Amino acid sequence: MIHVSFKKLFKKKEFISVVRTLVEALDVAIAICDADGGKIWSNGPETPGHQYTIATDNRIVGYLTGPAAAESIAQTLSYLVQSELEKKSLALDTLDKYEEINFLYDISTKLASCVSVDAVAQATIEEARKPIATTCMSVILRDRDCDQLQTIAFWSIDACDRDRSCHACDRIIQKVLASGQAEIINNIDVIEADSPIVYATICAPLKIQEQTIGVVNICNSQPVPYTAQDLKLFTALTSQAAAAIDNALLYDRLKDYAQTLEMRVAQRTADLEKANFELHRLATLDGLTQVANRRQFDSYLDKEWRRLSREKQVISLVFCDIDYFKPYNDTYGHLAGDRCLRLIAQTLQKAVNRPADLVARYGGEEFAVILPNTNSQGAWQVAKTIHTQVEGLNIAHAASKVSDRVTASLGVASMIPHLRLAPNVLINAADRAVYEAKRRGRNCVYREVL
Ligand code: GH3
Ligand code: MG
Ligand code: MG
Repeated sequence: MIHVSFKKLFKKKEFISVVRTLVEALDVAIAICDADGGKIWSNGPETPGHQYTIATDNRIVGYLTGPAAAESIAQTLSYLVQSELEKKSLALDTLDKYEEINFLYDISTKLASCVSVDAVAQATIEEARKPIATTCMSVILRDRDCDQLQTIAFWSIDACDRDRSCHACDRIIQKVLASGQAEIINNIDVIEADSPIVYATICAPLKIQEQTIGVVNICNSQPVPYTAQDLKLFTALTSQAAAAIDNALLYDRLKDYAQTLEMRVAQRTADLEKANFELHRLATLDGLTQVANRRQFDSYLDKEWRRLSREKQVISLVFCDIDYFKPYNDTYGHLAGDRCLRLIAQTLQKAVNRPADLVARYGGEEFAVILPNTNSQGAWQVAKTIHTQVEGLNIAHAASKVSDRVTASLGVASMIPHLRLAPNVLINAADRAVYEAKRRGRNCVYREVL
């Protein structure tokens, strides 16, 4: 209830000047006192007369004593006090509204910063407790998949029995979930005979696009009823919470989607890398022997040729041709021939040590070894090693005219390359050297000196 002090009003200049003007105009002597009879104001000696009440709509605030003509002064004072009362009430209303707006603004800022549903639920409880008296509160969501209720946040002043308090509000919660309308119930134990610990409750729906996804339930075990103002504030807070939960759910879905997308991209990248690696392998390796293929041989020789031309450094090339390989195929079959080619390729690979050395399958049963920065003597050593190790494989070759095992003829060529010359110069030289090794009876190494 709003009160104004009648005595205090007389301290206001405008108030007293109205009284003086009226007294002078009516030419009366009056005395004014408060409701308890305490004197407030008078002009001149007190003369007995009538006593008029000065009152607002519902309360007597003072009395005026004076002649009959002074009655209008008492009426004017009553009017002025009533106006003051209304002004004050309006000011208080405005303040309430301002505080309410401030409160809702605070809440919306806090809820908007929550990125998880749990955080929104916690913040909702914390914020609702500030302006509304409560002893127990819960945020309940309906699980979309199984249509069951899930309490995602709960608070009670004394860690009260959650099951009992929730049970007390069960029917109200179900009703709000079904209707989508907020409910306020005071004196709850009259309605719910088995719920002695809750006196009053407000239950408001959490609605997203007209769909009720849950409720927020606030209870009070103290015998203090909830007001229409509490309901209004609580409903406003719940609708903010619903929007924040909607955002959090969307954020969760987006996060999940982004994670799935990231995983997919990572998987695709890995697949692509694997495919690229495989493609590179297919493009550069010989399928049968798994050493470099002819295309890789050509591009590598070209690259090293240009590099060593600039550095004026030596490069060597070793050609290795299997002796009487056609008769070998004819005798043991093509599959045996393939196996033999693989073994010889592995032998060549093992015979070279430097990272820049490259073993390639040059043609059918011809292999080549590029040896950058290796002089004729070094290349000769490598060729000799290959020659010995091929023989050392001990692959029976009954159709060979030079041995009872598989053997090879090797040609070595070395030179300092020049940009004006093509790598073919070196290839031809190595070719000639193999030819010479063949001519000299096969199963030997011949070195072409340029
Ligand atoms: P030479 O001692 O003069 O080198 O005689 P050769 O029989 O080894 O030489 P030739 O050039 O007459 O024959 C090469 C043979 O290599 C022809 C073919 O039967 C065999 N050959 C080529 N490529 C493959 C292959 O991929 N697999 C098998 N199994 N044999 C191959
Ligand atoms: Mg050949
Ligand atoms: Mg041959």
